[in-house]
Amino acid sequence: MKFSEIIGNQELARQIAQIIDEGRLGHAILLDEMPGGGALAFALAIAQYINCKNRSNFDSCGSCPSCLKIQKSIHPDIHFAFPVNTSSKVSKSDKNPISDLFLPIWREMIAKSPYFTESQLYNEIGIDNKSGNISAYEAKQIINKLVLHPYEASHKVMIIWMAERMNLVAANKLLKLLEEPSPDTIFILISNNPDKLLPTIISRCRAIKIPPMDISQLAKILEDKTSSKDRAAICAKLSGGSYGKALQLIDYQEESAESEELIISIIEVGLRKNFEEMYPLWNKLADLKKEKQKEFCIKSEEVLRRLLMIKNGLNDIAFIEEERLEKFTTLASKIKDDFFPKAVAALDKTLSAIESNVNSKLTFCDLCNRFLLYL
Ligand SMILES: [Zn+2]
Repeated sequence: MKFSEIIGNQELARQIAQIIDEGRLGHAILLDEMPGGGALAFALAIAQYINCKNRSNFDSCGSCPSCLKIQKSIHPDIHFAFPVNTSSKVSKSDKNPISDLFLPIWREMIAKSPYFTESQLYNEIGIDNKSGNISAYEAKQIINKLVLHPYEASHKVMIIWMAERMNLVAANKLLKLLEEPSPDTIFILISNNPDKLLPTIISRCRAIKIPPMDISQLAKILEDKTSSKDRAAICAKLSGGSYGKALQLIDYQEESAESEELIISIIEVGLRKNFEEMYPLWNKLADLKKEKQKEFCIKSEEVLRRLLMIKNGLNDIAFIEEERLEKFTTLASKIKDDFFPKAVAALDKTLSAIESNVNSKLTFCDLCNRFLLYL
């Protein structure tokens, strides 16, 4: 990918190219983005620019052998690590699943658009019911890849996507590499959540924040994510908005319909104090796959946040379409103020319980009982 192919943020692209030209990039950078915010596009453009033989005008040429290989994600000196897990799509993944096993899928996704989110990757590689992680075994592979000198490029580039998914052992292994950098290796860490990285890792990286895009840039990305009707609706609401907000809206409209329906039903049943009606709801939640249960908790907190905003007359920033606004307004008016913090705390507790593999039925029975109690 050339810098000029990145959607928006061209000033930042030019600044980075200049830093590279002046030899000031350093051996490790951390790209901090909101989900699907374009950091991977930047990482690819940086890897390409560093190794391009004919760069000019603050961009790579896009046509030298190095650029061509990087554009197809098949350059032997450009490596990727990203969170994975066992998957029925990849037979060898049952033992020590690592990124390399999923590379064909990864390359296809990049070729389509590097603006994807973590959950989109999990869906594609078939681990959507589990969490992805970057294991100690993966870290060992990373070290092995970086031991040798580059095959053909001037610099090896290791792109670690969602670096916060490294477990502690993996992070410590990586830290050793970052402490003793090889002059021909560049690390590009991408994170949606740098707070979850070891401070010692952050301190060894040049941190670059990828800013949100403007509306015209957004429409480009939204083309392959939504129908034209939804896109128009989203853009209409986003005058002066950002990609993060657009993603929020897309996620909200497309992926979380089921979670929203469930949490609203739970609130309605809770307001009626009806335990018998609650029973099938918590059973339904207990039967969901783990990732869906986590998604339910996260989306539910989002629904609660929106209800609270509407209750306080902040409809403009609640991002609810006209059709659903009435339903949300009616519901919000029936909920007591002190319900919101208690409910969010209960959802946080549920999320931790899911992560710790506590029995699902007990977890969701507890959550639903709390809603009956708090409402
Ligand atoms: Zn080139």
